Amino acid sequence: MAALAVGWGVSGLPADRRPLLRQTAILVAIGIAPDLDLLIGRHSMETHSIGAAVIVATVAAWQRWPVASSRLMIWLAVALAWMSHPLLDALGSDTSVPIGVMAFWPLSDAHMQTGWEVFGPISRRYWRDDFLAINLSSVARELLVLGPVLLVAFWITNRRRNRAGGHRV
Ligand SMILES: [Zn+2]
Repeated sequence: MAALAVGWGVSGLPADRRPLLRQTAILVAIGIAPDLDLLIGRHSMETHSIGAAVIVATVAAWQRWPVASSRLMIWLAVALAWMSHPLLDALGSDTSVPIGVMAFWPLSDAHMQTGWEVFGPISRRYWRDDFLAINLSSVARELLVLGPVLLVAFWITNRRRNRAGGHRV
């Protein structure tokens, strides 16, 4: 939701439905993608960093992923959408060591965590009794915080689009 909000905020909404759906799908995928690192056992490390965001954004701009109308805006939208993930992770609650995300990789291997706990923890210990309760309450909190942000982002960019008569990506 955060990736979508910043992506829309940067690049605006395409005029037509299909490009809008395509842009939305790509931004959502970018927002989720950093957690694919779970598959390779390097969770919250390199993929949760500025370095990864720069790499992915550069590939996106080079390949002209259909999220914005110019290469510069593609780069910006993808970089910020990707960075929204580690940023929100750092604002959340983390109980798995190492605590936090490797936000400044490759400049630093240090794990960052704000300790603010804006978002609840996500449990992957599915065998425990409290698995569902923990995750449902965390999802509810995320929806409560990010839902309004996404709605406002959509509302503002939609108004901007209607005023400008829309653009193509
Ligand atoms: Zn993550």
